[in-house]
Amino acid sequence: MKSAIPEHREDELSRETPDPPVTNQQTSWSDAPSRDALQLIAEGVTQLAGFGVAAISAVREDGKMEVMAVAGSDAARLELQGRRTPVDRLTSELAKADDWGLLRFVPHERLDPDAGEDWGWVPDVAPIDDENAWHPLDMLVAPLYDDDGALHGSLAMDLPIDGRRPGQAQRAVLNQYAEQSRRAVLVALEREKLADRVRMADAARRIVRTATAQLSLDRIVADSREALVEGFRAAGMWLQTFDRDGHGGARGELYSSDGSHVHLTPELIEIAEGAAHRAWEQQQVVVVAPDRAFSAALSAEQGALVLAFLREIGVESLLFTPLGAGPECLGNLVLTRTAGAPEWTEAEATTALDIGHDLGRAILNARIFEREHQLVEELQQLDTYKGQLLATVAHELKNPLTSVMGHLEMLESSPDLTGTTRSSLNAMDRGARRMVRVIEDLLLLSKVGDPDDPMIAAPVDLARIVDDVVDLITVPAEQKQLEITVELPAGPVFALGDHDELDRVAANLVSNAVKYTPASGTVRIVVDRTGDDVVLTVADEGIGISQDDLLRLGTEFFRSSNPEAVAQPGTGLGLAIVRRIVDRHGGRLEIQSDLGRGSTFQVWLPAASA
Ligand code: ADP
Repeated sequence: MKSAIPEHREDELSRETPDPPVTNQQTSWSDAPSRDALQLIAEGVTQLAGFGVAAISAVREDGKMEVMAVAGSDAARLELQGRRTPVDRLTSELAKADDWGLLRFVPHERLDPDAGEDWGWVPDVAPIDDENAWHPLDMLVAPLYDDDGALHGSLAMDLPIDGRRPGQAQRAVLNQYAEQSRRAVLVALEREKLADRVRMADAARRIVRTATAQLSLDRIVADSREALVEGFRAAGMWLQTFDRDGHGGARGELYSSDGSHVHLTPELIEIAEGAAHRAWEQQQVVVVAPDRAFSAALSAEQGALVLAFLREIGVESLLFTPLGAGPECLGNLVLTRTAGAPEWTEAEATTALDIGHDLGRAILNARIFEREHQLVEELQQLDTYKGQLLATVAHELKNPLTSVMGHLEMLESSPDLTGTTRSSLNAMDRGARRMVRVIEDLLLLSKVGDPDDPMIAAPVDLARIVDDVVDLITVPAEQKQLEITVELPAGPVFALGDHDELDRVAANLVSNAVKYTPASGTVRIVVDRTGDDVVLTVADEGIGISQDDLLRLGTEFFRSSNPEAVAQPGTGLGLAIVRRIVDRHGGRLEIQSDLGRGSTFQVWLPAASA
């Protein structure tokens, strides 16, 4: 039998050997019904069609014929099952064969003596003395084609029990078995493909679900690693991402399946990068395996280098998938298999390419996220720097200003001043006081925004604070003939916080209400308890704030664009201070305003008893 069974001696086949467990790594035919059907057909040939050995092979993805079922003896099965031979060996022999319906017969005289030696199985039997005697080098095989004429397998037989080349009747029986084998092999291959597609679809779903749920590259790899290795029945994997600009400069990163470091030489990294870009352009995966033609993404020389590297690390083959999004190739994913593992299938290749898109998008998202994160950090650093700068400047200004004010006071108390000098001194004094206010506001702003200077919380009676604040505001309010109403509950209303800071919040809001409400208007101040919160409301019927300005309110130095507001003295620091204090109290500030109609500021703070 020379079609699909490698060379073997008949006496070895018939020798009694204890049955070792049949571990058949190479046969990837995992579908039990398919396997059984083929086995039954092969046994039919040996038991009913008068042949000593029968074998059914199927053409695998890598273009090799693999023996899937053997009948005759356990020893034959053990020896032959899973053996692989190149398909062209069979097709070249078929060219010389006699046509016996579905069967092809190559008499030994026509066999290529050189080729026969290394791939055919030659039983060690002497031909009987008959003109139709079966010769040990005769070959009888039924190539199994699909309806389009593509070769998918073979049924081969040897050792006719009567020692003769089959006659018409026997050929008819064998033809029936050939037809059965044909159908069984086609169905089995179809089932295998389907099972593979289902398996890969399932794996892809798992991988994509895990990968897209992550925003960091490390986590994407860590979380999809197991699903990738399992889903693709791979021995290992590594993933390489490229630089942001896609080329040159520092290399991207390598992640390996077990977290270990994959050491790729710069040459291999370069090959991988080039191949990934080409493969992404062509939307192809690349399989690198011994005896397999390299795809267009890899030159023969590069392929040989990769193969040599694989041998070095004990890997038989790899499936190389480009990762990308849109036109951009972002990296590559390498899945490896060791010797004895099944070939990479079409369904695996297709799925890998799909996953290349999904992982590519996930990588892109992770990069965008990382970039945003970095930007936020940079902005935060800038903000901290700005805060420090302001605090330093304020500190540095405070001392000389105190000295200026001291001298001003001294000069002002001098008895012999002219009117002009006195009014100049007064103007200087007003300016200096304003500067002091700005400096104090800056120092407070820096203090309440400093995470290293945390607030020490204690119960603070907000009603009492409001009383004190209103006392201080009475004079300016009366000057403008404002009506101030204060609504406080009967007893104390305790908020949890810092007394001076909350005093500052109330003072800023109330003084703004008074400042930005035209003469004869009203200002209403309410302190209340709502659930676990204490609420301070300051509402006025003043100039109001436009919706655009509302969005920026509370940013340092922001003053609204309304000319009526700008006409009032102010620094634009009051609300920034309020916002920071409220934030560090774990509270919130709500502002509602209608331009020209008035504003309501509400501060929600955690109640002390909560
Ligand atoms: P300022 O020192 O300018 O009052 P704030 O930070 O306290 O600084 O307020 C910022 C800006 O918000 C003010 O310049 C003003 O335009 C606006 N604003 C604050 N409170 C009110 C209010 N009650 N009514 C109208 N506008 C207000």
